[in-house]
Amino acid sequence: MPTLSRRDFAVSAGLAAALGLNARLAVSPAFAQVTPDPAQGFVTYKVGAAEVTALYDGIWEKAHDPAFIANASVEDVKNAMIKAGFTPDFVSIPFTVAVVKTGGKTILCDSGTGAQVQPTAGKMMANMKAAGIDPAKIDTILISHFHPDHIFGLMEKGTNKPVFPQAEIVVSDVEYKFWTDPTVVDRLNEARKGLAKRIQAVFPTWTNIKQVSGEPEVAPGIRFVSAPGHTPGHRAFHLSSGSSQLMISNDTAYVPALVVANPGWHGQYDQDPATAEATRRALLDRVIADKIPICGYHFPFPGAGTISKDGTGYALTPMKA
Ligand SMILES: [Zn+2]
Repeated sequence: MPTLSRRDFAVSAGLAAALGLNARLAVSPAFAQVTPDPAQGFVTYKVGAAEVTALYDGIWEKAHDPAFIANASVEDVKNAMIKAGFTPDFVSIPFTVAVVKTGGKTILCDSGTGAQVQPTAGKMMANMKAAGIDPAKIDTILISHFHPDHIFGLMEKGTNKPVFPQAEIVVSDVEYKFWTDPTVVDRLNEARKGLAKRIQAVFPTWTNIKQVSGEPEVAPGIRFVSAPGHTPGHRAFHLSSGSSQLMISNDTAYVPALVVANPGWHGQYDQDPATAEATRRALLDRVIADKIPICGYHFPFPGAGTISKDGTGYALTPMKA
């Protein structure tokens, strides 16, 4: 679905007014994107001999919701957004997919939203082509976890046909078993039942999904790092090339303005918030101790930076694009 421009929004609001509707209620904020997309939707940087390309998939300007952070108020969330240099009007949640070229292989890290999660996202494929990366040449896709914004890019809308049939898709066995357990649908909250049903209808029919346990090397110089809590089998990916490293943290510290600054905040999307917090602290401490740059799926585009201690929390210093 193409993103509507601000002009479209103005027309919609005008139309709503003409119909006697309250434009603020009648027009979904998701269609009125405030944050400009980056001028160039891909950024390439080196990690040793490996080449990492950050592909912009879009942004979700999430309306405030008191349930979003269990142990912080909407006011606290707004103040944290301001402190990190963002507008307090919504929570900025960009989606950025990394492609790593290393050891002669092209590796996609998660798959984007497939334009099936937010109307303002689904730009990864266009940006991949703009970056000169042929989707048919992706050898391996590493999946951090099975939330829609990370896996819907694997499946075509409506048909569920595989978008990358030639690639090997590597997933944690814990994550795979959790979502494909026939009893999980009954145990999940309402918002997640449809996701589990789609996974169960599609993934077992594909022959190119490889389940791995523990923290093995899953591509040349890339290891899974156990990072549970956000979901039971959530994984970060550790890339090393020569003496250089990168921690691809995925959703361990998803919105840095909130949970890097306040690692003890318990987000609604962390399935097991206490475990997610312990994982987050351990991973952030590790990248500080080992002086490893970090990137994250929901970090401000292009998504890479460094972590330092900051009072009782941490701070992200973004890489300059
Ligand atoms: Zn996510």
